[in-house]
Amino acid sequence: MLNDRRRVTSLWFLVILGLYWVSWLYGGRWYLRVASSPRPITVVLHARRYSYSPSVIKVRRGQRVTLRLISDDVHHGLYLDGYELQISARPGQEAEMTFLATKGGRFPFRCSVTCGPLHPYMIGYLEVVPNEPFYVFGLGLTPLVGLAVIWLLMNGLMEDRILGLFPLDWRFELTRNRWILRLLKSRWVPFSFILFNLAVFTLIMLAGWLGDGGPGNYNFAIMVVWILWWVLLMLLLVPFFGRIWCAVCPLPFLGDWLQRRYLLRVREGRLAGLNRRWPRALRNMWLVNLIFLLTTFFTAFFTTRPLYTFILLAIIIVSNVIVSYVFERRSFCRYVCPVAGFQGLYANIAPLEIRPRDPDLCRRHRYKECYLGNEKGYGCPWLEPPYLLKKNTYCGLCLECFKTCSYDNMALNLRSPGLDLLVIDKRGMDEAWKAFIMIGCALVFYTIMQGPWGWWRDWANLKSLYGYLGYLTLHSFNSLVLIPILFGLSVWLSRMVAQEVFLPFSLVFVNYSYSLVPMGLAVWAAFSVGIFFPNFTYLFRVFSDPYNAGWDLFSTRGIPWTPFLTSMIPYCQAIILLLGLAFSLDMAYRLSHQTYSPRNASSGFIPLALFLISLTLFFQWLFIG
Ligand code: SF4
Ligand code: SF4
Repeated sequence: MLNDRRRVTSLWFLVILGLYWVSWLYGGRWYLRVASSPRPITVVLHARRYSYSPSVIKVRRGQRVTLRLISDDVHHGLYLDGYELQISARPGQEAEMTFLATKGGRFPFRCSVTCGPLHPYMIGYLEVVPNEPFYVFGLGLTPLVGLAVIWLLMNGLMEDRILGLFPLDWRFELTRNRWILRLLKSRWVPFSFILFNLAVFTLIMLAGWLGDGGPGNYNFAIMVVWILWWVLLMLLLVPFFGRIWCAVCPLPFLGDWLQRRYLLRVREGRLAGLNRRWPRALRNMWLVNLIFLLTTFFTAFFTTRPLYTFILLAIIIVSNVIVSYVFERRSFCRYVCPVAGFQGLYANIAPLEIRPRDPDLCRRHRYKECYLGNEKGYGCPWLEPPYLLKKNTYCGLCLECFKTCSYDNMALNLRSPGLDLLVIDKRGMDEAWKAFIMIGCALVFYTIMQGPWGWWRDWANLKSLYGYLGYLTLHSFNSLVLIPILFGLSVWLSRMVAQEVFLPFSLVFVNYSYSLVPMGLAVWAAFSVGIFFPNFTYLFRVFSDPYNAGWDLFSTRGIPWTPFLTSMIPYCQAIILLLGLAFSLDMAYRLSHQTYSPRNASSGFIPLALFLISLTLFFQWLFIG
């Protein structure tokens, strides 16, 4: 029976694949024909803060292109990614460059002369058709990878391995090495890292305060927080180490001290402060979701103006101190911090976990030192019983349970990625909406910071009140309504196709929402690549001259802004999105088997798979199309 079903599935797969490639080849020939009659073209390009007009220029491959740049306000430049050409024009002057459009694709042109706070995001696009990267990765490989993964999943070829590579039950305990265990038990770990970050953070706060009015790309606070830290977080820390940032974050330093009154030593007994329990109604991610969304309302300010970065960090510190005084342990980190929520959800992908080594021993141990604390360490500051840990969402990797457990029964494991998304415990609508908000915010961040739409940047930048209200409305509608509705439609279809409409809609909706987590992280990673490569050379300058005061501490101040490997950005973004799609499909299939009976799981999976492929296609179009 199963073999018959597999044969039918394979047949359908081959038919769809065949139809797809026939249309792809036919479409391809047509597309190439359109692009095959080059004539010289001259484009007059007006630049004003923070957009170009026209913002998208379409030419054909082989065409000789002349760009005449006219500045309508201040001194602007134009750097063409992929072709590595540059001109600049002062107001009242014109600059011109001519080149042969030999490479197909969509190439950003960006302002190369610092012109104001949003200068790094003043971007337009030259589209040279045929746009091969989009043609190959978006229209070609996205459906192909999607269908191939669906086929592999439905034929049971990836059953016991995530992505067909990582065994579901594989674990390697790092703390079996006694040196690693000793290190984790030391009170200097992670305290020494927190001290280091505290020093950097003090510089950041000073730069934020003193840098008011100066351009963000020459400011230590802006560059270190929004280019270095954020990109490290999304490309490296969260995907591979989960919540490791929470372990070394300096922001709760004052709040911790207020409760403990010691830096390294352990305060025994009751902690200082009121030690109230966090209200039951707020013991979820809703508040974190709301605060994160509110923070993104000021994206154009926080990420470009030093003083606003200072204000944001100061608000976090002050509220942390207040919450730490009133409520027990790290209630702030768990229930309030805007950075904590998405790290928690995305940390479930990381191939790193802290878990009890022997759950039976935990059951037998009557005095739960890991939760209550003892003379060697504090009870879990994140209010999570370590002996019950099943997923990474609410473990801040603080390592206290390694110090307190007298049986050394906590383990730091390497494991296959994504396993926690399949853990049924503590699933809820709050986490589902976190997944939607993160995808929605990635879309909005991308369109503001890397899109060609100057009017949208103006709206987010509060150029007019009505524009800004429009920005708030569209941004909120997108994250809170549009994406959940589209996702909900695919869930509704899934229940119909699986013929299990008796299952509560909310159960299926929440279960499937975890399949969006790999896709969301991939979208953020792709966005981060597009921010980091063009802008990271500003870091050389701010390390030598953190306050834009003319210093040259490491003789790197003079290193000019040089966009790095920009021609590789579309390929990196496209590949990251494909990986996200494969991972999300894998999760969706397994979640389908958790939700429906084995007979109906595969059919119920199809609408979700189509939704994920469509979402990937959309982001491929947005990033490289
Ligand atoms: S203190 Fe150790 S043995 Fe006891 S419950 Fe906690 S992890 Fe388990
Ligand atoms: S479970 Fe352990 S490592 Fe995780 S937050 Fe609690 S005490 Fe820290």
